[in-house]
Amino acid sequence: MAPAEMVPPASPTSATDSVHTLELGMLRGEGEAGRGWSNGDIRPELFPATRNGRLQLYSSQRRLLHLASGWSRIGTGTDGKEASELTHAVSSSNRGAAIVEDSSSEALAVRSLIAQLCEQFYRFGWATGTGGGVSIRVGGPAENRPWRVFVAPSGIQKEDMIGDDVFELDMDCNIVHPPKTPNLRLSACTPLWFVVYKHRPTARAVIHTHSMYAQLATMLDPTESRKVLSITHLEMLKGVGHHGYDDVLEIPIIDNRPSEDLLAEQLELAINAYPKSNAVLVRRHGLYCWGDSWEQAKTQCESFDYLFQAAVEMARLGLDPGAPPAHGTYREDDEVEPKAKRQNIGFNGLGRCDNAVDLVSNKLPILPRDGKILLLDIEGCTTAISFVKDTLFPYVLSHLDDYISRLDPMEFGLLAEALHSDLVNAKVAETVDTSDPAAMVRLMVQKDLKVASLKRMQGQMWRSGYEKGDLKGHVYPDFVHMVNWMQSHGVNIYIYSSGSVEAQKLLFGYSEEGDLTAGIEGHFDITTSGNKKDPSSYSKIARDIGVSPSQIVFCSDLEDELQAARLAGIGHTVMTIRPGNAPLTANGRKEYVSAFSLLQLCGV
Ligand code: ZN
Repeated sequence: MAPAEMVPPASPTSATDSVHTLELGMLRGEGEAGRGWSNGDIRPELFPATRNGRLQLYSSQRRLLHLASGWSRIGTGTDGKEASELTHAVSSSNRGAAIVEDSSSEALAVRSLIAQLCEQFYRFGWATGTGGGVSIRVGGPAENRPWRVFVAPSGIQKEDMIGDDVFELDMDCNIVHPPKTPNLRLSACTPLWFVVYKHRPTARAVIHTHSMYAQLATMLDPTESRKVLSITHLEMLKGVGHHGYDDVLEIPIIDNRPSEDLLAEQLELAINAYPKSNAVLVRRHGLYCWGDSWEQAKTQCESFDYLFQAAVEMARLGLDPGAPPAHGTYREDDEVEPKAKRQNIGFNGLGRCDNAVDLVSNKLPILPRDGKILLLDIEGCTTAISFVKDTLFPYVLSHLDDYISRLDPMEFGLLAEALHSDLVNAKVAETVDTSDPAAMVRLMVQKDLKVASLKRMQGQMWRSGYEKGDLKGHVYPDFVHMVNWMQSHGVNIYIYSSGSVEAQKLLFGYSEEGDLTAGIEGHFDITTSGNKKDPSSYSKIARDIGVSPSQIVFCSDLEDELQAARLAGIGHTVMTIRPGNAPLTANGRKEYVSAFSLLQLCGV
């Protein structure tokens, strides 16, 4: 179908077709821009301002809509035959705030809108050969009435659809009002609209396209085994909901089936696994995309399509659409003010935070998808690095003399002997008075020796410090909320830290937020599991927990640890970014998903 301006102004369908006459005037540009149109036959107040006064009119028996006003106002005109129905219907369909006089005019408006959208999508090349479709629903609990679901029919030329071709269903997929046009069938996509409506309760419109770029974008991976298309660092990412310029958009890809209704189960899994995505790609087929209003669904669908075209063309140029740019200055700017940027999107990131609000308004979960186990580092992840450096270690030194003075002669002797033996092994024993345990401890701390005798003594001192209330384990405020969320969603939390299991239990048992040990399923340290930079440590942990490494989500502030975990097949590796952590390297930034708050691990 040609664009509106090119509709031949010839062959009026009847001599009394005053509407058609009006259209000719508008098509010649005689309309007053911004004012809309009226020739006296149509009550002007029913047709509020249109932007260009453009009309699309097949015949007076069919439909009369105006395309302007951001597509959000639909009017129908009069004609001799169907005056009762076509007299008045004006709908601001935006976000369901329908301004209609009765339910039949609402239906009329929505049916017309679906026809018009289908025609538009045909022009975009998304719905040629009768492919693709649109569904819109209105009503719902917010309006204290049942949902009314309107769906395009099967097999009809999308550029030639009219409102009378549209089905109205209830939320159980029963036909409430069949189309007026005889012999139409429900589309095979119909069950799929309902999958989206069920799992996205705020969705009010779903669009299905057979866009060329959407299907090509599912084939960028030559093995066609990838279940997700990643795109990052493109301005149009802002147009698809939940994403900023430098976020990584992940659109799930499901495999095609011989008939469309067989896609329902996969679609359901993908929607739930990727809560941030407002679309699902179907390999070698097209796209399903939705929004909280039909306008949102449409603009998002356009943005997605633009991004798919970009991804396909980038791949052709040998560029990876999922990788951040290796050059350019943006990332340097990003280093300067990450704080403000991140706070804008609602996470507590650095400094100021409001976890209760974050948890409620957290619409940007990054995990877990198939994660069953959350494995957390402590320092720089659950807890400030400075807590160990500025609180725990100084506590040992400042309470050392007091601690030693309270030992009985036997304990004193055992401690001195153990310290001495470790100093001999470290070949520094000759530089210190080996009858003075305090002096030996200070030397070990000064030389940063990680020896068993010192660790044991530190552990004992910390325990008494925690028990007396001198020490309270630091945890970031998001930690507790995250633990509660994981518990209520069946995700088990484990800790893997270089600090001993004993020290870990003390930290969480006597934390600033109280005793948190009930939320932690188990603990690992280097004695139970090995070095944190060794992949085999992570394999061992997975075996000990009894899951496959791919089911584990591991969070750490250290790239080497994430790298080791990834080599061991850990399913998801997340870099935690906390105040005082070492700056991210370019590679760390590129390779790992980063989280400013553990709440980002929680879904909605
Ligand atoms: Zn299709």
